[in-house]
Amino acid sequence: MTETAPDLDRLRGDAPPRNHDARTIAALTANPGCARRGLMDAAGVDKDAVARHLGFPAPFGQSQFAITRGNAFEAQVKADGCAELLTLLRERLGLDVAEVAYDDLEVVAGNEGRELRHTRTRRLLARALETGEGTLFDHPLLRLEIAGRLAYLEPDVIAFQVRGRLHVIEIKSFAVVDGQAEPEQVAAAARQSAVYVLALRRLAAELGHDPGRVSHEVFLVCPENFSNRPTATPLDVRPQLAVLERQLARLTRVDAILEALPGDLVFEPGDALAESVRAVEARYAPECMAGCEMALFCRDEARACGATGALGRSIRDDLGGVDTIATALALADGSLHPSDDLAETAAQLRAAARLRDEALLAARGGAA
Ligand code: SF4
Repeated sequence: MTETAPDLDRLRGDAPPRNHDARTIAALTANPGCARRGLMDAAGVDKDAVARHLGFPAPFGQSQFAITRGNAFEAQVKADGCAELLTLLRERLGLDVAEVAYDDLEVVAGNEGRELRHTRTRRLLARALETGEGTLFDHPLLRLEIAGRLAYLEPDVIAFQVRGRLHVIEIKSFAVVDGQAEPEQVAAAARQSAVYVLALRRLAAELGHDPGRVSHEVFLVCPENFSNRPTATPLDVRPQLAVLERQLARLTRVDAILEALPGDLVFEPGDALAESVRAVEARYAPECMAGCEMALFCRDEARACGATGALGRSIRDDLGGVDTIATALALADGSLHPSDDLAETAAQLRAAARLRDEALLAARGGAA
């Protein structure tokens, strides 16, 4: 795990590493076969900056207004040692939170270093699991193994201990109106919370405790009815946890990707950047547009080379082994003789082409 670390650091050039957060991990698991994304994320490369430098800025991102509003809401909920949050947990959710201790793990003795913060997180959570001491742990810095390498998780949640179990509290700025929130936003929050639950469970196991001491029930805190008044909703993230664990297990190992690449590869701004990025295999699919900063660059590349993935993941999977649209068309019209492993796919493509021709002929006949 650590043997690849110097090589990965080299890939960034002089740029500092970017931490993973729950959003990037949730998005990473959406395309587990993409070596490009896996490598860039494992190396902590700022994909947003790379995409901008290449002239393909990320097609998404929060507006400055939304970021400011989100930060203000979070600060309000966490003010005075999370006073408002505690009222919610006690009154709205009926939780028996008696004495409260609040630990902020964002900075340790004026030091924001990741190792130091992670060490303190481990120490306080170990104590919480052993003795029940501590209630609210703000900004815990967690780690999760991603494709054979430990990634730090940028914290934006609170770990909350009640009745001997730890829960994740996620504060989001989207509104809950009449008890309902935008389903897509709730689903994204559930996926992200599941990442933290998994990281906390693995930490509990490392510390010799039952991972089940970290609950699958997380608390989502949002503004209510267009006001700034917070409301809390319990969310069961078991389905998201199951998907996450399955996808993390499928991620291509980073050391295997690195082995196949030139030793001097680096993702630094400059004339060679596009070539460096293209040196790492990508698996573009239209779904990338919703979750990966490199999406516009990879889409352009996939279109330019006529990759089947540009048509959608299900088509690429159906055409397994046929990488380009030109090859698929040549197999369909019989101008290309298939290799043994593509014989079945080629037969299906020929059958589909025949059906299409028949349908077109019938349509023309009907119109005549
Ligand atoms: S956009 Fe590109 S780098 Fe990102 S997941 Fe898709 S193919 Fe991989």
